[in-house]
Amino acid sequence: MSATLLNLYDLTHEELRVQLVRWGFNPFHTARLWNYLYIELADSFDAMPELPAKVRARLATDARLGVLATALETDSSDGFTRKYLLSLADQERIETVLMRYTGRVTACISSQVGCAMGCVFCATGQMGYTRHLTPGEIVAQAVHVARALRQSTQPPHSQCHVIGDTSGPRLRNVVLMGMGEPLHNYDAVMQAVDILRDERGLALGSERITLSTVGVVPGILRLTKEKRPLHLAVSLHAATQAGRAALVPAAKKWPLDELMAACRTYSETTGRRIFYEWTLIEGQNDSADHARAVGRLLHGLPAQVNLIPLNPTAGYAGSPTRTDAARHFQHILQEEFKLPSTVRQRRGIDIAAGCGQLAVAEK
Ligand code: SAH
Ligand code: SF4
Repeated sequence: MSATLLNLYDLTHEELRVQLVRWGFNPFHTARLWNYLYIELADSFDAMPELPAKVRARLATDARLGVLATALETDSSDGFTRKYLLSLADQERIETVLMRYTGRVTACISSQVGCAMGCVFCATGQMGYTRHLTPGEIVAQAVHVARALRQSTQPPHSQCHVIGDTSGPRLRNVVLMGMGEPLHNYDAVMQAVDILRDERGLALGSERITLSTVGVVPGILRLTKEKRPLHLAVSLHAATQAGRAALVPAAKKWPLDELMAACRTYSETTGRRIFYEWTLIEGQNDSADHARAVGRLLHGLPAQVNLIPLNPTAGYAGSPTRTDAARHFQHILQEEFKLPSTVRQRRGIDIAAGCGQLAVAEK
């Protein structure tokens, strides 16, 4: 199918209404069509029988439903994680992960094919940048996971939402932590967030969407100005400019002091806490001194630290911090700085679906 046709997943509810009117149809059909897209999760125009035939005929010629084809689907051995390799209309590929742990059902979605930021320990960074995803390609990943959940016969691990005859668990959380840097693709990501949040559809409220950034300062300031309703996570990894620049090349463009100033502005303006991510690499950034440096850096900020023991990738030789050392790091943050933190569970590593492991082989 041609990638140039209008992708319905690109449009907000209002834009869809305007488009139907432009085609000469009654705007009354918007609600029905939106329902098919985001409640029924229809995977073709044929699966929209209650739309008038003339509307469906127009959609079939002038629009497309940007459903993503599954090229490969892999389950982790513990059954908590499923990874989808998805094909885009131009044959590029991305990965999307469905996680069913900590009592939630979460989709980890991608914002770009590859990534331009080049973090040394990240498989996506190691593959380089190909292109931005469109809003519809970002939305379609969440729809893909929601549809898969709907079809799943496994007992729901958490909140069960019954729609029609179906009994699969409902998608409740989305994290923009897959392939790519979401604030490098700001407009498309925010359009997708608006569509995901729409209460008439997937209804992923502001508490349900988390965006993780490598620290794109202009993007954080724009989020602040626009008061975007989402959780913000900032990938820190080091508490000095030199230490950070060695792991995250983007730190040379947006230095640590500018990043922290932007984070402070964000929290002061929005009243929101920021999650600071810290990939724990043995012997590199996991000592007691490093923990104290984090504590000092984040002092006085509404913050939670998410510690992520390094996941293996082909292009980086470092080792993950051992569990006892990670606990000690956490203990220092809590006892000396009253700074809450979590150590991310290492799940999906056997299928390379952990943080920073998403990449696609060359076609
Ligand atoms: N580009 C965004 C979001 C995607 S990466 C960002 O960098 O924040 C999601 C998280 O995984 C980031 O905190 C990133 O630093 C972390 N990460 C990347 N590679 C990793 C690896 N090999 N092991 C553990 N965490 C990793
Ligand atoms: Fe890009 Fe995030 Fe990976 Fe860095 S960690 S290369 S910003 S995806």
